[in-house]
Amino acid sequence: MNPFIGPEGILEKRSQYFYPCTSYFYRNPPQLVRGDMQYLYGHDGKRYTDFFAGVSVVASGHCNPEIAERTAEQLRTLQHTCTIYLTQPNVDLAERLAEVLPGDLRRTFFVNSGSEANEGALLLARLHTGRRGFIALEQGLHGRTYLTMSVTGLQMWRTDPQLAVPGAEDVTFIPRPYAQGMSADDAAGRSIDALKAVLEERGGEIAAMIAEPIQGNAGIIVPPDWYFPEVKALLEQYGVLLISDEIQTGFGRTGRMFAMDRWGVTPDIISMAKALGSGVPVAAFASTDAIAASFNRPSASTFGGNPVSSVTALAVLDYIEAHRLPERAERLGGQLRAGLEDLAARYPRVLSEVRGAGLMLGAELSAGAPELGARLVDDVLEAMKDRGFIIGKNGVGRNVLAFQPPLVITEQDIAEMLAALGQVFEEADRAAASWTQEGAGDGNRA
Ligand code: PMP
Repeated sequence: MNPFIGPEGILEKRSQYFYPCTSYFYRNPPQLVRGDMQYLYGHDGKRYTDFFAGVSVVASGHCNPEIAERTAEQLRTLQHTCTIYLTQPNVDLAERLAEVLPGDLRRTFFVNSGSEANEGALLLARLHTGRRGFIALEQGLHGRTYLTMSVTGLQMWRTDPQLAVPGAEDVTFIPRPYAQGMSADDAAGRSIDALKAVLEERGGEIAAMIAEPIQGNAGIIVPPDWYFPEVKALLEQYGVLLISDEIQTGFGRTGRMFAMDRWGVTPDIISMAKALGSGVPVAAFASTDAIAASFNRPSASTFGGNPVSSVTALAVLDYIEAHRLPERAERLGGQLRAGLEDLAARYPRVLSEVRGAGLMLGAELSAGAPELGARLVDDVLEAMKDRGFIIGKNGVGRNVLAFQPPLVITEQDIAEMLAALGQVFEEADRAAASWTQEGAGDGNRA
């Protein structure tokens, strides 16, 4: 074990040995050394209630003993082979997933990360349809491999031609079902019109549309209930597959096992990761027998479906079922949402909109201008961290507070967090008032 170097030492080593693309939250970031269900502990012993779960990863709690024991036992028994040999945990996991996946989706290919799951889903769509084109939503995020970056619509990635060479892949972006200053129905209608136009022009060249049911990194965007049923019906007319990227939304977070379940939509392919392993790398894409039949060349992932990841995912699914985490997310999400809406009513200058489903909620901070909102979000995150609460941030303008806690969070944790947030908003409201007086154009603040 190397000697303890503390947060400053870590930052120093990161600056020397990591790529400059790696970012971190907080002006004074804590060093996290231990996790226990919904709590994280810093090197100085300080306890943080985790309201971000590493972007929806640790849904069943940090180091949950009911899961960790089974992971540890498998680690001591048979750590790894490869899918070319027979082991039982991965087939048990595939069978178990078939039970919770919607409709006829019952074939699974195991990989190790969300990007890899989407990469496989996109490849599968091409193999099955014999077409090359893709449709994706503006501001969506699907990963950091070359193809998944090419279907990623997040503005900050699309503006750099070195990241996703425009035109190198056949991807058509359509507006997402959300726009500031537009009603939800109008924005969704605009997205549907754009989809229709692409399909009418060249539907026969498009293999699949890929979408997050609820956009995560782009600021927690929930479309109107009619949007995805209509998308699916349109795609079917042209033989275009729907890939649902449930990497952030899957496994109970939004109040359903999968977010698309809310709208009764069965996609053709679902990609999943994050919460499935609750901290251990495991990811997968699933489809029907007919679509899976098109993926018939020998292909094996070295680590995909390894016994340790598979046993962990089985333990996660057992835990989700035994503790009814989707229902819990719906119920506690209601409490959190009501509390945030109350804060929006009390501090309209600070909090302009609350969005989301279940325990995937976003609170957009505006302070009269998105740039000021981003500054406000950083101030609020820092102040909440000092009070012992870890909250996330996302959004196109990085001005959205993201609440995606482990689903084992309690009513009391939520009440305590909301009380602290009220105090922080009180201060933020005073700051925002002074900024507004100084003028929203103050470049030093933005
Ligand atoms: N899709 C979505 C919706 C995601 O949120 C992410 C990660 N934030 C990914 C794909 C990529 O997953 P990974 O980082 O595991 O490759």
